[in-house]
Amino acid sequence: MFAALGAWLGMTAGQPIGFEVLGGALGAGAGAGSLALIDGLRARVWLRWLSVNSSEDAPPLAGLWGEVGLRSERALRLRDREIRREQDRLAEFLTAIEASPNGVVMLDASEQIEWCSGMAAEHLGLDVQRDRQQRITNLVRAPAFVSHLHSHNFELPVLIPGPRGRGSISIIVRPYGEGQRLLLTQDVTARERDDATRRDFVANVSHEIRTPLTVLSGFVETMASLPLTEVERTRVLSMMGAQTRRMQALVGDLLVLARLEGSPRPLADAWVPIEQMGAAVEADALGLSAGRHALSFDWGPGLQLAGAEAELQSAVGNLVNNAVRYTPEGGSVTVTTHLRSDGAAEIRVVDTGPGIAPEHLPRLTERFYRVDGSRSRDTGGTGLGLSIVKHVAQRHGGELKISSEIGRGSCFTIVVPAARVRQRSTADATAA
Ligand code: ADP
Repeated sequence: MFAALGAWLGMTAGQPIGFEVLGGALGAGAGAGSLALIDGLRARVWLRWLSVNSSEDAPPLAGLWGEVGLRSERALRLRDREIRREQDRLAEFLTAIEASPNGVVMLDASEQIEWCSGMAAEHLGLDVQRDRQQRITNLVRAPAFVSHLHSHNFELPVLIPGPRGRGSISIIVRPYGEGQRLLLTQDVTARERDDATRRDFVANVSHEIRTPLTVLSGFVETMASLPLTEVERTRVLSMMGAQTRRMQALVGDLLVLARLEGSPRPLADAWVPIEQMGAAVEADALGLSAGRHALSFDWGPGLQLAGAEAELQSAVGNLVNNAVRYTPEGGSVTVTTHLRSDGAAEIRVVDTGPGIAPEHLPRLTERFYRVDGSRSRDTGGTGLGLSIVKHVAQRHGGELKISSEIGRGSCFTIVVPAARVRQRSTADATAA
């Protein structure tokens, strides 16, 4: 159009002097040149926008360049939006991985760390930033891990010690892409500890049951193969009875523990008068002591406890039973009950027995922990009494406190929190 306009102007200007054709040609040339110049300028403006500030609005250009600009700007904006969406998605994805209690490490084909989550760094003792591009086997040197990584058999997880040798970490290796590997890490310290406790427990129970069973089968053999006198027969039968009672006590305590572990916490509004529960405890203690000890019981100022009567009775009964069993003849066992100023109740069982050395105190409530194994068994102990007491106290929101001194006796206290304690007078007022 510019060329046509130039040609027309050239022809018009050249007409009076007879140079119509030359004027037309020159005009067309000048027109085309102007067009190229303007085009070039627009292209420069556009290129500048593209390379320097494409984030701002595109320059308003007319004509074809305007159209090109508009479409390119639209395409660029669309691409920017998509990139931002992808970045947001990636950030969200990484945040989700970071929120997981398990760790993730991505290794390249030469076992160098490409990416590592904070949790994996904690599990493996790595530094998320500093250790990037480091070969993992230079940093995690546990032989089990190194040989597992090189074994190419990743079916099972590998277990390694935690950083600074504490705890246990399980690592699952999964190959992906072209030689890359994904490591999934998990802190299994608690699980391992629970497994070990369970294994110990099963071993202990088996041992506790096997011993009286061996004795019993020995007696059965004796009775079957030897002609015994009436006196011998009575003696053997009485020993068999003792072993049977020992197994019964053990199975009974195991069932109590299983029930405590498997049932919900006792109701907080089922009120038990302490004297009522105490009466049964007293009767058992009197029978067990058979007049060998000075026993005294004070069940407090008309207190009531909220919870399971059978559990509370078994807990207090176990403490009194222990005090009687471990205190030599002539000693005393004193039970007192106090209402503390904060509203909690304390049931205290004090004896003048042999006392317990301080190193044993923290372990007394462990299952089957005994200070003196033979004394415990000889007096019918199962090694489970104090763990039952502790369980019951905790299920009622309270605790078991133990203090003792060798040669001076022991003091076992069950604390029941204020929320589960009331006095008869308050109870009567509430009922009225
Ligand atoms: P056991 O059935 O063996 O008595 P417990 O769990 O009741 O088991 O007690 C654990 C250990 O604590 C006992 O074996 C005993 O060594 C010690 N013990 C418990 N009560 C007393 C006490 N009143 N005096 C001395 N030692 C005690």
